[in-house]
Parts: sequence; structure tokens; C-alpha cells
Amino acid sequence: MVLIENAYLAPVVGPEIKSGYIRIEGDRIAEVAAGPAPEAPGATRIDGTGCLATPGLVNTHHHLYQWASQGLAQDATLFEWLVALYPVWAAMDADVVKGAATAGLGHLALSGCTTSSDHHYVFPKGRGDLFAAEIEAARELGVRFHPARGSMDRGQSQGGLPPDVVVERLDEILTATADAVDAYHDPSFSSKLRVAVAPCSPFSASAELMTEAAALARSKGVRLHTHLAETVDEEEHCRAQFGARPTAYLDKLGWLGPDVWVAHAVHLSDADIDRFAATGTGTAHCPSSNGRLGAGIARVSEMLRRGANVGLGVDGSASAELTALAGEMRQALLSQRARYGPTALTARQALELATTGGARNLGREDELGSLEAGKLADIALWRMDGPFAGAVADPVFALVLASGRPPLARLLVGGETIVEDDELRTVAQDEAGRAGARAHRRLLRLAEQHGVTREPIAPDPEPKPPTP
Ligand SMILES: [Zn+2]
Repeated sequence: MVLIENAYLAPVVGPEIKSGYIRIEGDRIAEVAAGPAPEAPGATRIDGTGCLATPGLVNTHHHLYQWASQGLAQDATLFEWLVALYPVWAAMDADVVKGAATAGLGHLALSGCTTSSDHHYVFPKGRGDLFAAEIEAARELGVRFHPARGSMDRGQSQGGLPPDVVVERLDEILTATADAVDAYHDPSFSSKLRVAVAPCSPFSASAELMTEAAALARSKGVRLHTHLAETVDEEEHCRAQFGARPTAYLDKLGWLGPDVWVAHAVHLSDADIDRFAATGTGTAHCPSSNGRLGAGIARVSEMLRRGANVGLGVDGSASAELTALAGEMRQALLSQRARYGPTALTARQALELATTGGARNLGREDELGSLEAGKLADIALWRMDGPFAGAVADPVFALVLASGRPPLARLLVGGETIVEDDELRTVAQDEAGRAGARAHRRLLRLAEQHGVTREPIAPDPEPKPPTP
């Protein structure tokens, strides 16, 4: 038995408790209550004095391999950025993915993330088992992992955006995706590994792939994920090529439903939002990435008001750079308020996006996302009593609005410690960081060997003097 005691508890579901305890039995929460913790001989006691306990945060959109391609194409639109980076990504191998995923997931854990999805959609031939590499990284760290087997089959010759060299054939995709589900998907209650099926986007996946992927996922009882309505360019592409706006196109393909969550959904009409709500389709809101690429501000406040589910995602580190999941609560709140005014999103709603909203996106609302008896003991214990915290009146507001996250006293996944005193405990933290740096250097070296020149994608490190 583990007892977290004397902490401020924000269970997300149910009232907050100013000083209380959480009793953990095995990998589940057994009790959440106010007051001092009971006597319990043999129990491990974690003193939460000065701490805020929240559910572990849930990240519902990422591309971990992109840790290795940060800082490139810095001032590009989404399409410009993709066109610059596809050739770089085409050079990646399993070593790049392993190092990038180790650093990326470690960085996420340090910002309170206990469950993360990943959307991997570039599978260059003969470069090792990329999907297995990221799963190994997640296993070593000990976080819950929802890798989505992504795919692209619509290269430039078929009217798509990516060069033909980075896309796969439809039959290869379907076989590899079915194999990934069969090899790794664990549907059990306390699962730490669930696989989703995830054609990349309307501009890189054919209608046939979308339809076949949905049939495959539904036959195997796994979830569906894709990018949708991220930019105005995508909307124009869909109108020109499919004669429909992105949401209507997905709807026609049978891709709206309670087993689907999409990334971004920035450009939705009122009718689109109502379809999302009516069908139970979820959204991974990625405000930092949307801001970096100038994609727009998603209508999150309106989506919530109309009953559509929204979770958070950091998105890949090539567009969001070193974005921490906890910081996306702040980014979501600020961007909604900048667009709609100060009542658009409360701090508690932002915390809901990061917890219950994320759990619903992954179909795990019975297991994750709140501190309640019977749920998995995935808990973040934030230290709120640092030297400058003497004036903190509301720890939840302080956590959400913090521009630098508060330190983590603990991060538990199924009752097991992943982070303690703000340091990773399941893997060596410094080595995890170095693995990410090595992956970055290796990818750029491999890309150079593939003939990618650095100039179009990276700023000149030595700016030329202005011409007179
Ligand atoms: Zn993405």
C-alpha cells in the first residue's frame, strides 16, 4: 500500500480537497479523502505537504521521432515545413527513433505526463523496426503508451503533398498495421500499451487507405487517429481534390465516431463542431504547434460548449520544439482567452483538457484522467512550496498559469515512481537527454548522406552582414 498524504488534491472529477490523502493498492487508487491519512503498518508514505496532487496528464498527439529534427524550417507554413522536412525524415532509422523517443518521453514525464500517444507515419524501407524502437523506449521509461501506426500512400504523383519516396503502398501499410496491432495491442484494463491505426492526413493518405484503415481498426477493436483541419491550405486542398471541406470528407469516409480522435481541428464550422459532438469524435488540441506554424486558434471553448470532447497534445518536437505538456494547459487557456475573452476557458477546464479530455480521446475514461477510487494510480504530485510560492493562493490556477512548470515531487504510473524530486528514476535522466541529442546529430548526418542539403531547412549559423 502507498499513501500520499497532506497534499492539496485536485481530483478533476469531484470537489477539490485542501488537505487530504490518496490510498493506493496495487496499481489502482483505493481511496481519496480529506484529513490525515490513517495508520497503516507497512505502507509506503509519501509526504505531500506543500504539494498539489493531480491526475497524471495525458498527451494525445505527438511525433516522437521529430525530437531529432528540431529547429528547422523555422518560419514556414505547415505545407512549406512538411515539404522541407519530408526528405530529412526519409533518412531516419530505428536508432534515431529510439533516441528521439527516449528523450521525448522523458521530457514529457518531467512535465507530468503519465500516458502518451504517438503518431508515427514515416517508414523508410530498410531502416530497421521503427515502431518497435519507440515502444522499447516507452517500456524502459514506464509510461503508458498509445503508439499509432501511421501511414501515407498518396505521394506527389497521386496529387498528395509528400514526395513519393516517403510513402508506402496500400497493401504494405495494411499488412504492417495489422501486424503492429497483433504484436503489441493490449486491451486489458491497466494496459500500458495500446495501438491505434492512423493514416496521416487528407493530403497524404488516399480515400481508399482511409476506408480500409477504418475497417481494419474496427475489425480489431482499436482506435483511429489522423490529422484534420489544421490549416487553411489543407481546406483548399480538400475542396480542390475531394470537393468537400475536411470534416465533411472524413464524415463521408465513415471516419467520425466515438472510436476516432483527430489532431488539431483548427478550422471547423459550426456544423463541423456539431458533427464532432454528435458522433463523439475527439480532438487533440495542440496550441503551441498551431501557434508556431501560424495555423490558427482552434475553437476549443465553443467545442466544449457544444459538447465535443477535447484533449491536449504537444505535437511533434519539430513544430512544437521543447514544449512541455503541463505548459499546453497555459497555452490553451491564453489562446482561448486571447480569441474569446477572459471567461473563455478556466484553469479547471484547462486541467480537464489535459486529464479527462485526454483519457476520453484514448477511450480510457474508465481508467484514467481523474483521482477516484478504482482508477489507475497515475498521479502527478507538483511541489507548490518553492521559495517564490509563498503568495500562491490557488495551486490549480498557479499550475495552469505557470510559464515554467512547478517541480514534480513525484510522478506515479500505476503506483510506480517514474519521477522523484524532479528527476527521472526509471532511466538515467542525463543519458536520456544525450540519447535525444545523438539522434538529432545522427538524423542530420543520415539526411546529408541522402543528399539533403542543410541550407533550405536551417538558418545560416553565421548571418551575413547586411549589404550596404
Ligand atoms: Zn501532428
